[in-house]
Amino acid sequence: MNRDFQPFEIFTKPETSVSIWLNGEPGAIQKEAENIWNSSKYRVATDGAINEITKRHESVEWPHAICGDFDSIDKKIDLKGAKIIHLPDQDHTDLTKTIEWCLEQKNEKLWSFDRITVLGGLNGRFDHTMSTLSTLVRFVQNETPVVVLDSFNLVFSLPEGESKIHVDLKKTTKMCGIIPIVQKETIVTSNGLKYEMDCLPLAFGELISSSNEVVTNEIRLKSTAPLIFTIEIMMSHAQPTARRLLSSAIHYDLIVIGGGSGGLSCSKRAAELGAKVALIDAVEPTPNGYAWGIGGTCANVGCIPKKLMHQAALVGKELKQAEKYGWNGLDQSKITHDWNSLSQVVNDRVKGNNWVYRVQLRDKGIKYYNAFAEFVEGGQIMITTADKKKTETLLSSPNILIATGLRPRYPDIPGALLGITSDDLFTLKTVPGKTLVVGAGYVALECAGFLAGLNQDVEVLVRSRPLKEFDQDCVHFVMEQLKSSGVKVREAVEVEKVEESGDKKKVYFTKNGGVEEYDTVIWAAGRAPRMERMKLENIGVKRNEKSGKILADEFDKTSVHGIYAVGDIVEGRPELTPLAIQSGKLLADRLFSDSKQTVRFHGIATTVFTPLELSTVGLTEEEAKKKYGEDGIEVFHSHYTPFEYIVPQNKDGEFCYVKAICLRDETQKVVGLHFVGPNAAEVMQGYAVAFRVGISISDLQLTVAIHPCSSEEFIKLQVTKRSGKDPRVQGCCG
Ligand code: FAD
Repeated sequence: MNRDFQPFEIFTKPETSVSIWLNGEPGAIQKEAENIWNSSKYRVATDGAINEITKRHESVEWPHAICGDFDSIDKKIDLKGAKIIHLPDQDHTDLTKTIEWCLEQKNEKLWSFDRITVLGGLNGRFDHTMSTLSTLVRFVQNETPVVVLDSFNLVFSLPEGESKIHVDLKKTTKMCGIIPIVQKETIVTSNGLKYEMDCLPLAFGELISSSNEVVTNEIRLKSTAPLIFTIEIMMSHAQPTARRLLSSAIHYDLIVIGGGSGGLSCSKRAAELGAKVALIDAVEPTPNGYAWGIGGTCANVGCIPKKLMHQAALVGKELKQAEKYGWNGLDQSKITHDWNSLSQVVNDRVKGNNWVYRVQLRDKGIKYYNAFAEFVEGGQIMITTADKKKTETLLSSPNILIATGLRPRYPDIPGALLGITSDDLFTLKTVPGKTLVVGAGYVALECAGFLAGLNQDVEVLVRSRPLKEFDQDCVHFVMEQLKSSGVKVREAVEVEKVEESGDKKKVYFTKNGGVEEYDTVIWAAGRAPRMERMKLENIGVKRNEKSGKILADEFDKTSVHGIYAVGDIVEGRPELTPLAIQSGKLLADRLFSDSKQTVRFHGIATTVFTPLELSTVGLTEEEAKKKYGEDGIEVFHSHYTPFEYIVPQNKDGEFCYVKAICLRDETQKVVGLHFVGPNAAEVMQGYAVAFRVGISISDLQLTVAIHPCSSEEFIKLQVTKRSGKDPRVQGCCG
């Protein structure tokens, strides 16, 4: 921050500054303001100011740039070569947007200036004045000082019942100041949220020179005595209500907290439907200091980097098999894998995604705040920027969406922080080496699978059953394939503690499980909400006591009116990106169009991207038996060898398996489909559509298959488990 700058310099050195002429007839009607405008290095007008500037064409210079949505501008006016900057939705935030645009010019070295002087913005409508103040608050820590110059009333608020303005004289030279140049005989105070005018005589000159506490009704006006006091001072002394007023909450039709799958989809859809949307997203860094950009878990530390690593491992396998198809020159002993190249590719891809999201938000006119959100009393949201400046801004909206997702859990044991989680894994700078993956859910097994495929020595610690919620026949084959690809499985123990041992991690297991050294320990035993920062207690949104997740109904409504929740943060919802996306989109439709559509939770397909993928939709055999009884269902299944495995004699063919579960009544309705094999996700997507609509086993059997492919194995299913017949597929073309 340029602490040497004195706001008075705007009178003496305008030639190094940008002047922004803000709407209508501001303090710029004063001769001083016109002089400043004319001598400024750059002149920027908001579209609302153009008519006024045009009227005064004889005494004021034409602006270099005009910012706005150009709704209110007189179409006949010749804009005379000024740069036209389209800023959508001009209202409370027009000044902020215009200042941001000027700062962008500076950052991109297109313009060079020392400060920004805003002409006007402090007289006229109360909410406009508050908006100007809140803009100043936002830029108070900015490198480039922003000063507002105006005449007439300075509007500011005092806490209810207060009549004293406290000014710390030592702080009065901060650069972010307000200078009412010809102060009229009134100062506006406000009580609580009500706006009341009180005319109080005021002598600012005395205020600065004699006392640091001013009793407002004793002050006398002295015209042209400049007052310089900072927003910082006002903020630090004001009571919460007044503080809120001073910050003049920026109002949106929808505020979305969390820029992951759910939050992005909801905000984009709402903006398409014409809503004014703010999206707030920031990432709490991992204990290793890693943080990422907008896009949430999926784009940064979830589905996308995971799938890239999964693919990298599959490519390695293909390389090993290529010779069988006649590819020469692949000396297997020379093929190695470079972890850093892969993690760089992942990093580049993630950064690319972040950029795309930001562009999309900008194109749709969504205000993106890289900030943390916190609920304050009264249901408004205070955001604090994620950068070092920690700038606070108050937002308000009748519709607030919480889509803050989950973060990996660290165990509560000594040395837990010596391990990492999936949040750190994909961009790890050093090759993981000998790795212990703790957990038996899909994240753990997927990580173990691709790490083994990338030639790492991997062990998985499975405390109880792996992939508990999946069909257990299928899980058996997935686990067997993992073992056959070199993944060791340590069962029925837990980690007691971790110690540092040189650059290794010494892991102590429970139940006399011994001690083992690893290069990397990955905790992948569940994910949990991190809600402390949000201060939900300030508004009373109800959560599940055990999981900490938010309780929401089928319309995504929480226990508090106007506050909604979607995605992983909602209790009882499958933790999947497409579900979060659809929930967000449908919520926006319900809020901003006449839609009543809600998400249908039946028949959501999902895939575990282990080396041999497992994809599934509907009930597992275990669930179907529980629901319909053993005699109520028929299970069709088969072991098959994918066509592409035959020539290279890929032994993974031993673990490929397909299962369809249907009702044992006249409907023969299919209630579950399960597939273990290559490209399982691709196979299952189409079946999931059919499943959602409703199909019988004969619908499958009577469909003419696509041949040759693995997907046709569903169509070819004939053998039931009950028959006890051999479910292995023999032959291939007839
Ligand atoms: P998130 O995407 O997690 O986004 C929440 C955002 O809110 C984050 O950016 C967070 O930093 C931000 N936030 C939190 N608190 C605040 C606050 N107070 N202020 C501002 N911002 C805040 N799903 C699939 O469908 N397929 C897969 O293959 C798949 N693979 C996965 C692999 C891994 C390793 C992991 C961890 C997850 C995977 N998932 C997968 C799950 C998927 O990533 C999530 O279901 C999805 O991202 C949830 O979206 P969301 O919008 O609920 O939350």
